[in-house]
Amino acid sequence: MTAVAWEPSAGDGNARAGVMSTPHGDVETPNFMPVGTRATVKTMDVEDLRTVGAQIVLANTYHLMLRPGEAVVSKLGELHGFMAWSGPILTDSGGYQVLSLNPTITEEGLVFRSTYDGARVELTPERAVAVQEALGSDIAMVLDVPVPLPSPRRLVEEAMHRTHRWAERALDAKQRDDRALFGIVQGGADPDLREQAAKDIAALGFPGYGIGGLAVGETADERDLALDAAIPQLPPARVRYVMGLGDTEGMLAAIARGVDLFDCVIPTRLARHGKALTRSGDISIKRAEWVEDETPLDDGCSCLTCRRYSRGYLRHLYTTSEPLADRLLTVHNLTYTFDLLRMARTAIAAGRFNEFRQHVVAARVGE
Ligand SMILES: [Zn+2]
Repeated sequence: MTAVAWEPSAGDGNARAGVMSTPHGDVETPNFMPVGTRATVKTMDVEDLRTVGAQIVLANTYHLMLRPGEAVVSKLGELHGFMAWSGPILTDSGGYQVLSLNPTITEEGLVFRSTYDGARVELTPERAVAVQEALGSDIAMVLDVPVPLPSPRRLVEEAMHRTHRWAERALDAKQRDDRALFGIVQGGADPDLREQAAKDIAALGFPGYGIGGLAVGETADERDLALDAAIPQLPPARVRYVMGLGDTEGMLAAIARGVDLFDCVIPTRLARHGKALTRSGDISIKRAEWVEDETPLDDGCSCLTCRRYSRGYLRHLYTTSEPLADRLLTVHNLTYTFDLLRMARTAIAAGRFNEFRQHVVAARVGE
């Protein structure tokens, strides 16, 4: 019996719906994890997260191991107690964040300078597991070796093999049976390498699989090819999670290929930059044309922002830098995202996912 399992409930072509069970409750899939980097989804209280429809949140190993440190989080009730979120939590391993710090990568692990105080920090596959077990997340991710795209094939291949060796070390380091550890498929944009990476990582028998190194600037076609190469190699009864993907069109394309889980900063980050995701396309709330606009952000949305406030009011809050603007736009963008995935699950169950996808994409003309 593993700490995290996945059961299918419906299928439509390659798209699939199901339920992922975790030590802190069930998650209907396909689903999305809002990013709570420092054990907080920016501007959202946990009550807000429930209201917008979040079933699982993501927190960041790299940031939390540096501030306040995993020992502090562990002492204050692990992540669930610390941030007062009683639902499922997934932590990423930190490799992706560290990449931007230009780390020294050796067979042993990553060495980098802390963004907080410049201190030398070492992150090994074993340490990444230990930190995540101390944080108490329901799902930990193995430390992988991300590579920027495009990179020479030799480098992508090297990173792929090292990711595999690190995954074996992570499994050996795992101590808590009441928590799950997911593997990560790397392999860049090269379909052959993706297929190989997926086959190798699947052979290690993880309860779920992240597909990493995507949503980093590759084209939609490159991403589709990478997913088409990797997914058939992964066991059907395990969760598949595309890391860092969260735009409407990208998620629908991945769901059509059998992906179950996503995370991304897009809905929350765009909100803080005055961008609203809507059924008819994304809009910028800054624009002068909204000054006297009495309509909500999105006619089809039932979030508190759309029920209560006009575009004119939201524009006023945003252009005068009122903090409420960030919160109201975040509430809306997350509601939009969770509504989209709920409708996708319903469409899969009804056997009309492709029709649903075409309809959503066609309606999103945007600015
Ligand atoms: Zn709304």
